[in-house]
Formats: sequence, C-alpha cells, structure tokens
Amino acid sequence: MSKTLIIAEHDGQTLNPSTLKCVSCATALGHDIDIVVMGGAIGEIAAEAATINGVSGVIAIDAGHLAQPVAANHAAEVVAIADGYSHILGPSTTYGRDLMPRIAALLGVNQVSDISAVEDAWHFKRPIYAGNAIVDVHAPENAIVVATVRVASWQAAGSGGSAAVENRPASATASADTRYIKLEAGGGERPDLQAAARVVSGGRALGSKENFKLIYELADLMGAGAGASRAAVDAGYCPNDMQVGQTGKIISPDLYMAFGISGAIQHITGIKDAGTIVAVNKDADAPIFEVADIGLAADLFHVIPELKKLLS
Ligand SMILES: Cc1cc2nc3c(=O)[nH]c(=O)nc-3n(C[C@H](O)[C@H](O)[C@H](O)COP(=O)(O)OP(=O)(O)OC[C@H]3O[C@@H](n4cnc5c(N)ncnc54)[C@H](O)[C@@H]3O)c2cc1C
Repeated sequence: MSKTLIIAEHDGQTLNPSTLKCVSCATALGHDIDIVVMGGAIGEIAAEAATINGVSGVIAIDAGHLAQPVAANHAAEVVAIADGYSHILGPSTTYGRDLMPRIAALLGVNQVSDISAVEDAWHFKRPIYAGNAIVDVHAPENAIVVATVRVASWQAAGSGGSAAVENRPASATASADTRYIKLEAGGGERPDLQAAARVVSGGRALGSKENFKLIYELADLMGAGAGASRAAVDAGYCPNDMQVGQTGKIISPDLYMAFGISGAIQHITGIKDAGTIVAVNKDADAPIFEVADIGLAADLFHVIPELKKLLS
C-alpha cells in the first residue's frame, strides 16, 4: 500500500511552515497523506495540521518525553507507527536533518536527502555541489522511503481541509542515553530564519559584534529574520544558527537583504530560491550583484541608518 507519513515540525505553539511544504512534496507523490504531531499539549497544533489541504489523517501523540524535539525520542516513536507507510517525509530543517537519518537507520534504509522535485514515487531530484548540479535519485521500490524535503523548493500547501485527528498514546519510552537540558535561542522574538518572509543578513563587513546590532535593528523594524554569512559567524559577530548557505541554512524568503556580503557560491546556495534579493556592497564588482534583483554599490554604514530612519 502506498501511503505517506509526514513528521510535523512545531515549537510547541504553532506548526512550522516547513510542514506545509512537506505536504506539497507528498502531494506530488500522489498517495494518501497522514501527519504525525509529537509533543506535549499539542491539541491545537494537531487541529491546525488537520486543516492542511490534501491531508487524510493526523496522528497526535502527546507525551511528556516528546515535548522537546529530542531526535532519539521522536525517531523511536515514528518507527513504532511506521508500519503501513511506503514513505516517511520530514523537512530539511535542523529538526528534520537531526531526526530523519535516525528513522532511516532504525528502519534499515538509506535516507533520501533534500528532495527538490518528485518524478515518481521512487525517483526524485536533489541539488548537489552547492546547487550547481541536480542529481536523479532512485530509491529501491521494495523498501520504505525515508526522506527529507528541501523546503526552499516547495510552496506551502494551502488550508481548508478537515482531516480526522486520532490521539494515540506514546509507544516508545524516553531514551536513556539522550536527555534534553535547555534551549538557547539567539533570535529572541525574531521570526525563524527558515520560515521568515523577509530576512536581513550581514557579512564580514560589519566588522564587530557591536556593529552587527545594525542588522538586528533593521530586521526588527522590518519584522524580518536575521541572517549572516559564514565569515560573520566565524568572526564571532553573531551565533552560528544564523548562518545562511551551503553549511548553514537554505532559505527561501520573499525578500532577502544582504549587507556587506560578497556573494561567495556557498552563500548564494542558501538564497537561490529567495524571491527578491537586495544587495548592498561598496564594491561594485562584488559577485553578489550577479544574483541581486536590486543592487546598491554603497557603504552599509550609511545605508542601514538611512533605512532605519525611513522605517522608524
Ligand atoms: C566548504 C565551505 C562551506 C561554506 N559554507 C558557507 C555558508 O554556508 N555560508 C556562507 O556565507 N559562506 C560559506 N562559506 C564561506 C564562503 O566561501 C565565504 O568565505 C563567505 O561567504 C564570505 O563571507 P562574507 O561575504 O561576509 O565576507 P567577504 O567575502 O570578506 O565579503 C565582505 C564583503 O563586504 C564588502 N564590504 C566591505 N565593507 C563594506 C561596507 N562598509 N559596506 C558595504 N560593503 C562592504 C566587501 O566589498 C566584500 O564584498 C563556505 C566555504 C567553504 C569552503
């Protein structure tokens, strides 16, 4: 039987938009789609998942040891309900990249990573070499497919559905080897980078942690997420969960603003699917201008304060 199970990502309050993108990918497979929501006090999130178009059923597993996104606990739970599914999909976010390989290993299959297009149920496309080549991936037809979905490549599924929600007790117990200690999030109230419609990013040119506040201030005025190049992260101007690019986060905001970022291929990989790219760089020959929709050859220390004045 062909049936797809999607692992919902959420923060305990709302569903992460990556789940809606997984549904679009699953819809391309053409099978019935179930979503599993794991956590503590997840009634509202499960109800939200049930409204996604194309979803047949929602499995809500409410248990204390699932309240935090500990991959060891979530993977065991997914494996316990995997029977009957031909495909298990999760997002290629930090959560999904932590969780899905564990599920694949426990089920004894190789993970298919970063699906950007579906050709048929066992034939997918994914980018490699920093997005410079697209590879065809064929999964064995006689085994369950466990895959991550490249969220930047898919539109969010719409709402309007009314799937049934089935509450189930947890089947697995808490891992004895891994325990949750605490979450340290650098972004405060700012939107999550991988879900934000607008992202303001800074590069090495900011020059210091103190100066990097300019990026946060502009992001906050715009209700945007804040990102960074690897050079800015390596220099300690901001936390590494803000890194955008090949070894950071792949994002697809409607608007991406890059300040003092040269446009190295590894950075561009992370923003290929952004709607409009605005770049401010004082070097008119900087490679970022080759991909920017709007480019300004100017000093960011002049431009950001002007933008802040306009927006305040
Ligand atoms: C395997 C590998 C993986 C990598 N992964 C990533 C990744 O995920 N993400 C990533 O970002 N990088 C990644 N990198 C690093 C990448 O190659 C670049 O080194 C990095 O992106 C450069 O960061 P930057 O643009 O901030 O710095 P720079 O390349 O130093 O550019 C700084 C830019 O600021 C401009 N500038 C200077 N002063 C001002 C000013 N006052 N106003 C306006 N502009 C100014 C300069 O003209 C320059 O273009 C990776 C590299 C490797 C080898």
